[in-house]
Amino acid sequence: MINMIYISKDQFEKIVEQAKNEFPNECCGFLAGTKEDNDVYIKKVYALRNTDESSEHFSMDPKEQFDTVRDIRNEGLVLLGNYHSHPFSPSRPSEEDKRLAFDPNAFYGILSLHNDVVFNIFKIVKGDVEKLEYKII
Ligand SMILES: [Zn+2]
Repeated sequence: MINMIYISKDQFEKIVEQAKNEFPNECCGFLAGTKEDNDVYIKKVYALRNTDESSEHFSMDPKEQFDTVRDIRNEGLVLLGNYHSHPFSPSRPSEEDKRLAFDPNAFYGILSLHNDVVFNIFKIVKGDVEKLEYKII
């Protein structure tokens, strides 16, 4: 049971900046931080290369993923989940996002650049999507 998710303001802004820089392609990366009781703190985001170079889907570079997981451990953080951008669609999981969401414990962040900048964090369990509350601190 998650009480609240907190994301550091500078890290949130890193995601927005990356999404704008990589527009019109989707950008992607890992969310890392800590869990304390029922609260989750996203303390560091790790930008990863979208090897698909597509505006409709993404794949994270396997070697970068491996190296990043090691960095996260070295920092004393845990891998909390991942994020990607939707350059032309709303901030909610696509059918493909749901199909590829294998980890029921992961947090899936989606930043939409469609109309306004909108960021949502989801849990996806066997295709069922739950939008979670978060605060930027
Ligand atoms: Zn997506």
